Amino acid sequence: MVGMVHGKVALVTGAGSGIGRKSAELLAQEGARVLVCDLDEQSGQQTLRRIRDAGGEADFWRVDVAQESEVETMVAHCVEHFGRLDCAVNNAGISGPSGGLETIELPDWNRVLAVNLTGVFLCMKHELLRMREQKAGSIVNMSSGAGLIATPGLAPYSASKHGVLGITRAAAVENARQGIRINAVCPGSIDTPMLRAAMDTDSAVEKMIRASMPIGRLGEAEEVAEAVVWLCSDRASLVTGHSMGVDGASVAR
Ligand code: NAP
Repeated sequence: MVGMVHGKVALVTGAGSGIGRKSAELLAQEGARVLVCDLDEQSGQQTLRRIRDAGGEADFWRVDVAQESEVETMVAHCVEHFGRLDCAVNNAGISGPSGGLETIELPDWNRVLAVNLTGVFLCMKHELLRMREQKAGSIVNMSSGAGLIATPGLAPYSASKHGVLGITRAAAVENARQGIRINAVCPGSIDTPMLRAAMDTDSAVEKMIRASMPIGRLGEAEEVAEAVVWLCSDRASLVTGHSMGVDGASVAR
């Protein structure tokens, strides 16, 4: 059986943990050669080892997606090492400060927007420069249910994720005739280190997060990775400009 992304080259940011790690692993399992990218070298190297131990082909690149020179070098390294770039999963993100909007400090706002929105913009910019030369490619940006509906207490995060949907849609239309598809995934509450950290702050928050999932359980990172890999693959050939909920009906409530 040939994998869903057999022969493709994929890049995943934030691949040292959670959804990014599982996406990188599943892409490799489905036949892609994968550049594992993360700010955290140690966790990124762990993902790399897991992929190689499972028989996949991968390399690691340390990147802060908020720094344009680092993002440019990441894409250049991918092309130098693997020869091309077919699929890009722009997943790196942070949850940022919580609390009423009037309590948010400007540096905290700036950092969330720098990583979650400017980071996606910078990655898309340099990925698109390459993909337009190839006249082919698929980009998957990680938004959130918080990109679709109000998330009280997380205004900077919610704003950044709404922004991700905006640039996904604009770029999807701009590149529709270039052979490049661009989509976003909007996960619900997924059991990852990011969500665990939020739930550990207090039991009321944990209760609220668990109640946000009509399906009656948290999502698993593997379940989001399934959507990511399908969107990356040629099986999603007519799907572009789409925001796909992977959320156990949490936005449908
Ligand atoms: P996670 O477990 O915290 O993983 C995120 C990874 O991104 C970490 O390895 C982190 O490294 C890395 N990262 C952070 N800032 C970076 C930067 N500037 N440059 C490069 N890498 C960076 O989080 P997750 O839950 O898997 O989330 C992945 C994505 O899904 C995020 O965009 C998040 O907003 C989105 N999402 C998650 C959920 C959920 O319930 N988990 C729901 C909706 C959307 P460090 O560990 O060093 O920070």
